[in-house]
Amino acid sequence: MTHRLYYTEPSCCRFDAIVTRAFDHEGRPAVTLDRTAFYPSSGGQPFDTGRLGGTDVVETVDGGDDVIHVLAMPLESGAAVTGEIDWTRRFDHMQQHTGQHILSGAFETLFENLTVGFHMGGEVSTIDLARETSPAEIERAVDESNRIVWEDRPVAIRFVSKAEAARLSLRKEPAREGTLRLIDISGFDLCACGGTHVDRTGAIGLIAVQSVEKMRGGSRLAFVCGSRALRALRTYRDVVAGSVRALSVLPTELPAAIERLQEESKELRKQVKGLQERLAEDKGARLAAAAPEVEGIRVVVEALDGWDVAELKAMAAAAIVSSRACVVLITSSQPVSLVVACSPDVPVDANVVLQQLTHRFGGRGGGKPGLAQGGGLAAPAREVASAAWTLIESTLSL
Ligand SMILES: [Zn+2]
Repeated sequence: MTHRLYYTEPSCCRFDAIVTRAFDHEGRPAVTLDRTAFYPSSGGQPFDTGRLGGTDVVETVDGGDDVIHVLAMPLESGAAVTGEIDWTRRFDHMQQHTGQHILSGAFETLFENLTVGFHMGGEVSTIDLARETSPAEIERAVDESNRIVWEDRPVAIRFVSKAEAARLSLRKEPAREGTLRLIDISGFDLCACGGTHVDRTGAIGLIAVQSVEKMRGGSRLAFVCGSRALRALRTYRDVVAGSVRALSVLPTELPAAIERLQEESKELRKQVKGLQERLAEDKGARLAAAAPEVEGIRVVVEALDGWDVAELKAMAAAAIVSSRACVVLITSSQPVSLVVACSPDVPVDANVVLQQLTHRFGGRGGGKPGLAQGGGLAAPAREVASAAWTLIESTLSL
């Protein structure tokens, strides 16, 4: 059974130990020790990493009685080793975890809103509150939390029996039996927890809530503490500075400036769409005017670059209005899409032409005698064009 140093000495980052067992853990070398300061993932707090006996500890897993240290290289059973945990990573976890206790304590004290979940992520952490909360409540809870941080209150570790615990007012009902480990934030919050914590609240520095979302009848709050709060501030500073430079406005004017840009861009998109339609119509009329006549009907068969099917459709519609025409417009990229259109008094059925072409080249589509469209034809555009021309010419010459 591993003696867990972090239970009583959370600031211990270097220790000596004996390897009690060397084995494979899910295909990776691992050891257990007689004593360890390495914290395994548990209670929402991620595992420690570091060095052990000259190799890297890449993961720490709670194995029940023992703490499993997953290693980069194997170690021998019985070896005397020195362990050193990655203190930057661990201290960050301690800032977030104690910060979480305070934030959860503030929501409970101020609004009787219990924390029902906690997750510490790589960048931000979250708590799930039992009930929905409002922006005003969040601000009050954050103010209260930071007051506790700045008062630099002691954070003590206490061990009590379940019976003793029942007489204390713990923030949440402890799930486990036997001796309980309590984290006591002096005069503010008392909670059963196996995690590692800073020894005074001042070490947290700052607690900031970044976002809130609704979650199964409650709220999920994303928050950062300590060095993460500083990192978040730097990110916001750079993002704001970049946006302010790009838009030439003051930081407080950014939301309005972005709204204005969105409006302008919407208006421009509308104008571009209108112009594209007019261009397509114009092109359609010109194609019809320049097309050869078969039995007095203009026959337009063209493969065109750089137009989408909607534009080809507008073009074809314009062509059959401007002239008595039969029109087949084909995209030049494969698989080929196409539009077939015929003026009302032309003895060619656009849908029949389309069906014949898809029957021959694959793909699918449909429409009416006046207008049909299809896609997915597996042949080069010029081959489809040539087949379409032959079809229409033979229909008109009957
Ligand atoms: Zn905890």
